[in-house]
Amino acid sequence: MTGQTTRVGPYTITPETITYSQAAEPPEIRGTEGTAWRVTDADGRWCASMTSEQAAVGYAEQRIRDAAPFEVELADGRRVSVPRGALVTFRGLDRYGYHVHAAEELSGYTYGVTRCCGASAKGADAEVVCRACYTVVDPYLGGPAEVAVPPAGEAAALFPTGRFVYYEGDDPDGFAATVRDEFGFDPSDPRRPRRNPPNGYGLPVFEYGWDAGHGWSFLCPPVHLDAMLARFPLGT
Ligand SMILES: [Zn+2]
Repeated sequence: MTGQTTRVGPYTITPETITYSQAAEPPEIRGTEGTAWRVTDADGRWCASMTSEQAAVGYAEQRIRDAAPFEVELADGRRVSVPRGALVTFRGLDRYGYHVHAAEELSGYTYGVTRCCGASAKGADAEVVCRACYTVVDPYLGGPAEVAVPPAGEAAALFPTGRFVYYEGDDPDGFAATVRDEFGFDPSDPRRPRRNPPNGYGLPVFEYGWDAGHGWSFLCPPVHLDAMLARFPLGT
């Protein structure tokens, strides 16, 4: 199809005709044609294909927000820049100065990310390469990393994977909007972990979501713990 190209920052969105594959569900659409909106970056690399233009624009806007830098103060007084989208998994620096991230927010498994792209590393033939640009990197990045310098603050040192807190003010929506703008993550994101009241059955101590019924509980990442506890009415 001939369609209009849309630009969102460095991203280009182009409609393209796709043919549904043999694996398509439901089976009736196999072999039929549809439209997808393809998102490519400034270098023309494919980023995503979405089923609507609106979704493609939203995806590109989210990538731009996630890539925006946020300055984090460390325990030794240094300041480093971390992409906003990676703040919730940022854990500090290792002894070589690599940025260390957790594999998942609540996971204790941490690894160093590449200096070129801030990406994880992976094995390729006999070498270890950056997962984003395939440059050969320090083989050490292929394994786990230990934090040598955590973010600044007492709470960050005590709770290296973050801490479950409760928003105790009377404007949860305004609070969530302020945190999104100024701290780079969204406490109201339904995919974020929240505290689960202890139930005595050995079940997980967290679920996902953000609501009044759970006291507006959310997991505050270690990089923001001290600053957010000092500024907002947060209970622990
Ligand atoms: Zn790279």
